[in-house]
Amino acid sequence: MPYRPRSPGLRPLVAGNWKMNGSRNDIDEAAKICSAVAGGEAGKAEIVICPPATLLMAMASSCNGSPVRFGGQDCHAEPSGAFTGDISAEMLKDAGASFVIVGHSERRRAHHETDKIVRAKATAALRAGLVAIICVGETRAEREAGGALPIVGGQLSGSIPENFSLERVVIAYEPVWAIGTGLTPTAQDVAEMHRFIRDRLNRHLPEPGGNVRILYGGSVKPANAGELMTVKNVDGALVGGASLTSAEFMAIAGVYR
Ligand code: PEP
Repeated sequence: MPYRPRSPGLRPLVAGNWKMNGSRNDIDEAAKICSAVAGGEAGKAEIVICPPATLLMAMASSCNGSPVRFGGQDCHAEPSGAFTGDISAEMLKDAGASFVIVGHSERRRAHHETDKIVRAKATAALRAGLVAIICVGETRAEREAGGALPIVGGQLSGSIPENFSLERVVIAYEPVWAIGTGLTPTAQDVAEMHRFIRDRLNRHLPEPGGNVRILYGGSVKPANAGELMTVKNVDGALVGGASLTSAEFMAIAGVYR
């Protein structure tokens, strides 16, 4: 069945988050994705790969001339300075990135990143000319306590930079309990949350929130992508484990053919 856009006017986005995986031997996986995209396998979707920083420049060069874009998985809020081990948004841009993920739940949890920190990072991304993919999502306990919507609402209002250009921000709704677990919310729950996020964006931003792409992330696989990606207000996916092999990743992106 041909793909029908669920948010008319928005180009879907499928982004792969490689996390702390991959070595030089895997640069070919990116090249395979670039060839598949050139062959029309992602249809109208925009494709982004976020490898570890060590592979970013090599992958971006190996795909030079391809419409596939690359991204970092995190950035520091400052453009440069005495921040051992950190990478700035400007450095990511210099290495060939067009996107950066900020506020991923693994960073919120393991690196104690607050909404305030996430907002500073997202602001840095925009300053550097990158698109910021801002992650939000509730834990299992928060959902079970009936708090999923307020938790995500709070993360949204705390993490989104003020006065930003909407086309350079993407929201990724990633329920923490669905990441890497094989569990996914029901299509109804995804629809409710994405509608809520859309309404929040519409209410709080100077331009209509309909222009912001809202991705779903959390155990997206080829087998469930068709159902999840056709939920209203789902404008693409942030994919972890299944983005590590070109075949699986392209099978997900193929929903948009
Ligand atoms: C992620 O880490 O952003 C993610 C969605 O992971 P996975 O697809 O493996 O659940």
